Amino acid sequence: MAIRSKLVAGNWKMHGGTIQNRELLNAIIAGTEELGEGGVAVFVPYPYLSQSQSILQKTHVSWGAQNVSQHDKGAYTGEVSAAMLMDFGCRYVIIGHSERRALYGEDSRTVALKFKAAQAAGLIPVLCIGETLDQREAVITEQVVAEQLDTVIELVGINALADSVLAYEPVWAIGTGKTATPEQAQDVHGFIRDRIAASNPEVAAELKVLYGGSVKASNAAELFAMPDIDGGLIGGASLIADEFIAICNAAR
Ligand code: PEP
Repeated sequence: MAIRSKLVAGNWKMHGGTIQNRELLNAIIAGTEELGEGGVAVFVPYPYLSQSQSILQKTHVSWGAQNVSQHDKGAYTGEVSAAMLMDFGCRYVIIGHSERRALYGEDSRTVALKFKAAQAAGLIPVLCIGETLDQREAVITEQVVAEQLDTVIELVGINALADSVLAYEPVWAIGTGKTATPEQAQDVHGFIRDRIAASNPEVAAELKVLYGGSVKASNAAELFAMPDIDGGLIGGASLIADEFIAICNAAR
């Protein structure tokens, strides 16, 4: 059985400012040292990539962006390409966050194109998938998650998942304070891993699948203890240094 190391990543969303970022990043560096290289990442707003690079380079903490264009270059006002993210030392980029899907009309096909563009430039995509409350109540969680995943696999192929991270984020748990129980999360994580294993067991065994949705210091350890949960994508709690550091350390 593969031993997957854990990853805890903070999604700052549209929060931050140069002064508070510096304090937060320095606190994260100091407070998560024992996790070592590859265990912690932050997803900052585009304008703070340069600041993050200068503070985090030569530390164990990685950084990335929260979105990327599916295009390489051109007349796409307001967009940012994967090559530009590489220019600022990004290791990861979030793809298909539910807020992008719901508020900016990103469908599974667009998400798949972004995934492909990110990998082509050398970034590790963190692909977010998850169902809404209505979909959970209609008992179609597995169909929803499968469609989101399969659209990416159809475009890039199953082997490309080896160089990515998945994040299962039930939409009803994001920013709501309602966390999936460890068992609810494990059920979906297990479904995702089994589905991938049916095509490629090696990729499935190595792939990190993070959980996201109202993770806090008080519930992180029980979530991270589940066999198919390989860490977390943390929104609100990633902006509070002590809370985020405690979540990171729950993954040790
Ligand atoms: C997220 O934005 O990916 C997220 C999980 O947010 P929160 O932790 O605030 O629910």
